[in-house]
Amino acid sequence: MKIICIGRNYDEHARELNNPRPTEPVVFMKPETALVRDGKPFFLPDHLGDVHHEIEIVLRIGRNGRHIQPKFALSYVDRVALGVDFTARSLQEQLKNKGLPWELAKGFDGSAILGEWQETDPAALEQGYGFTLQIGDEVRQSGHTSEMLFNFAEIIAFVSKYFTLKMGDMIYTGTPAGVGPVQVGDSLSGYLNGRLNLRCKVC
Ligand code: ZN
Repeated sequence: MKIICIGRNYDEHARELNNPRPTEPVVFMKPETALVRDGKPFFLPDHLGDVHHEIEIVLRIGRNGRHIQPKFALSYVDRVALGVDFTARSLQEQLKNKGLPWELAKGFDGSAILGEWQETDPAALEQGYGFTLQIGDEVRQSGHTSEMLFNFAEIIAFVSKYFTLKMGDMIYTGTPAGVGPVQVGDSLSGYLNGRLNLRCKVC
């Protein structure tokens, strides 16, 4: 199983981190050991500096494919959920400044939180999703997939030119503006189209 992630896919978020607007999807991966599901806690590593939350829509691939055409791409997705792409931000800045890969800042243990899968189909994916992240009672991030620079079909078509997509693979599709650090004791809740989908306690 692969965890594929898209960076800088919401314009306002790209700007808040002073990144240029990309002309092609920015792609990176997380290892399977990054995954935290079933409401389990996130253990904040103490050797990575500040760790930021990034709430994202996650797609699950339902059948194998490569070189998928955009017009067929949505039929390759069978589930959707919210996820948090935890990012060691200062470390990522250091790596970016040196022109090095981001994996250490993005793929560490526990860095991929996953909510509950819900069934989906091309029509629902086309219509899109609104989503928010709360810490405690406070809304920290909110976005809608209509604001994505590259939509689901474009992401799947692009990624599958490089990596064969297999059943069970996941794609984290990028985060809207509002990212910030988490602290021990924080309680994260993610709402997908207004319904609670993800819970995660920071320990
Ligand atoms: Zn992200």
